[in-house]
Amino acid sequence: MKTLGLIGGMSWESTQTYYQLINQGIKAQLGGLHSAKIALQSLDFAGIAQLQKDGDWDAMAQMLGEAAERLEKSGADVVMICTNTMHKMAPEIAARLSVPLLHIADTTAAAIASQGLKKVGLLGTAFTMEQDFYRGHIQDNFGIEVVIPNAADRDVVHQIIYGELCLGQVNASSRDEYLRIIDSLAAQGAEGVILGCTEIGMLIKQKDTEVPLFDTTPIHAAAAVEFALA
Ligand code: GLU
Repeated sequence: MKTLGLIGGMSWESTQTYYQLINQGIKAQLGGLHSAKIALQSLDFAGIAQLQKDGDWDAMAQMLGEAAERLEKSGADVVMICTNTMHKMAPEIAARLSVPLLHIADTTAAAIASQGLKKVGLLGTAFTMEQDFYRGHIQDNFGIEVVIPNAADRDVVHQIIYGELCLGQVNASSRDEYLRIIDSLAAQGAEGVILGCTEIGMLIKQKDTEVPLFDTTPIHAAAAVEFALA
């Protein structure tokens, strides 16, 4: 079994989901007392969130790049960034590694493509929804069109991520807001919606809506299990 290197803590609420899903996946495949070989670099999210607000992406590329190097030195066979937003720096981080970086947008787009969908909606932080690094990556590499909510709804989605989900708060009123926004993306022609923030799965599950959902956390975790056992 290969060793998975996780850069987590962004937030720890979703990192614990990764840890659980990856171990469950390994156990499901190998049975008995088997568990995943995981190296974890868990960062303090308060400082990261401030750097995001300040727009200091170079400092974050440096921090995550160093974390990735520590993972490789400790024996990781692959590195995963356990947040969609921080994939903004994926090219800089991957360039510091000789092991592969398992890109969350690649695993998600592959899941969408396997269902033959051509146009999907995207929910995530404002950075993920509004900048090109995520939507462009999916559009350019997989030919899948990605649509986003209007400005007011993007703000709702973003505030709930940082003000509630990353603090471990799951509120029914926020679930209703997300479901309303998912419906508006479907009305724009989205055949499915990417839950493009690793905490959104705490709030929204497939049973809550008929719109097909692509939850990046379990998709990324399943790809990690596949890599570990390949
Ligand atoms: N975990 C989130 C994501 O997937 C947001 C936290 C962050 O900014 O990294 O984008």
